[in-house]
Amino acid sequence: MQLVERQALIGGNWADATSGKRFAVLNPASGSEIAAVPDCGPAEAQAALKAAATAFQSWRQTTAAQRSTVLRKWAELMLANQDELARLLTAEQGKPLSEAKGEVAYAAGFLTWFADEGRRAHGGVVPSHRADARIVVMKEPVGVVAAVTPWNFPLAMITRKIGPALAAGCTIVIKPAEDTPLSALALARLGEAAGVPAGVVSVVTTRSPADVVGVWMASPLVRKLSFTGSTNTGKLLMRQAADTVKRLSLELGGNAPLIVFDDADIEVAVRGTIASKFRNTGQTCVCANRILVEDGIYDRYAAALAEAVAALKVAPGEEDGAAQGPLINQPALDKVERHVADATAKGATVLTGGKAHARGGLFYAPTVLTGMTSDMALASEETFGPVAGLFRFEGEAEAIALANATETGLSAYFFTRDLARAWRVAAALEAGMVGINEGVISTEVAPFGGIKQSGLGREGASEGLDEYLESKYVLFGGL
Ligand code: ADP
Repeated sequence: MQLVERQALIGGNWADATSGKRFAVLNPASGSEIAAVPDCGPAEAQAALKAAATAFQSWRQTTAAQRSTVLRKWAELMLANQDELARLLTAEQGKPLSEAKGEVAYAAGFLTWFADEGRRAHGGVVPSHRADARIVVMKEPVGVVAAVTPWNFPLAMITRKIGPALAAGCTIVIKPAEDTPLSALALARLGEAAGVPAGVVSVVTTRSPADVVGVWMASPLVRKLSFTGSTNTGKLLMRQAADTVKRLSLELGGNAPLIVFDDADIEVAVRGTIASKFRNTGQTCVCANRILVEDGIYDRYAAALAEAVAALKVAPGEEDGAAQGPLINQPALDKVERHVADATAKGATVLTGGKAHARGGLFYAPTVLTGMTSDMALASEETFGPVAGLFRFEGEAEAIALANATETGLSAYFFTRDLARAWRVAAALEAGMVGINEGVISTEVAPFGGIKQSGLGREGASEGLDEYLESKYVLFGGL
């Protein structure tokens, strides 16, 4: 396999941990080792940070056009290596190869998007409050950024932080998830080939995240944290950020409702549910978690969904036609099993799946459960696996109340053919993103992010660049 890097990128040097320690990256489909990478600690975190702080002084002085050229070249290299990157991604993460290729393109999209956006980081001239003064607002990079990313989108969750950071003139130190460091390192190697100067991007691999990230959180040199991951870790890092008052972008967990109204087109709803619920084997933060189905369509929809779910091919991601790969690791599988056991113990019915897949290992049979109730674990916790739990409701008001009965508010979906209802429900849902008659809504051109405990800030779109810029107000007096 190509593009496998076995060293971390620290301040322009490909390096081992000073301790000499390494950890194995496993293929979740087979359990076999792909490669071992450095198990870095505070020393490497410090070295990467120092290099980023130094590089910031020169990188911020480059023109937007120069930064744009580097980002564009980087995206081109990703696409030129799309197959190899996808194979590596599938090997360490498990998603079907077709989804991995899609992720490479999606991830490259953030680099090209921000290559363009960075050129339009206009400040402004404000009509002055005094005749003898002029007011100018300049946009400046926030400084060194620390990025901490999850395993479910090992490339895209990184490029959507790198893209705006570099476009704005920031430098960045990245700690990829311990399950998927190889994609991050391959990405860094392509960045180097694209002309990213030493120290502008570092990738510090570790299996002790707190040791590395703790150094960055404590340092006043890090001016911003961009984190994607669990709500609990996000809260912990938010507390740590308080001491040095860092800017924060947090993209945390969701518990997305997906509502199917009586007037929905069943075929569209089933297709949308499969896309939303079963993409990446149910392991995305925007996956539907609670499927709310109106009484009049419930039985027909449940039967159609179960039939479609039963037809999903469960196989290692690189196998032809694979639609469902393995879960990422044993704790992920344990959680899925716990949610299904809890639901069935409390009265849910299994229409399909409901157990480990015959392939064994980390494969779980894609599942549809009916008769879900709000006292079940799945109602309040994100399952992060291939389990569609169907709740029954009557009427729009009940649907909205159920949908909003959660502390999180990342994405929400609903299916209807009633135009007025579409506007009403979109407005009433407490979520940062809403898909109507569609199950996959992520794109670099639209602002991605959540409300309530799903996080702070937006990624992608023009909002995504603002997160990495400060506004400096300058008053020219005495005119
Ligand atoms: P997930 O459930 O997606 O694994 P986590 O929040 O545990 O969510 O992981 C997301 C990222 O946060 C990963 O890169 C992980 O290594 C990192 N992380 C986990 N715990 C900590 C911590 N205590 N301090 C800093 N980073 C952490």
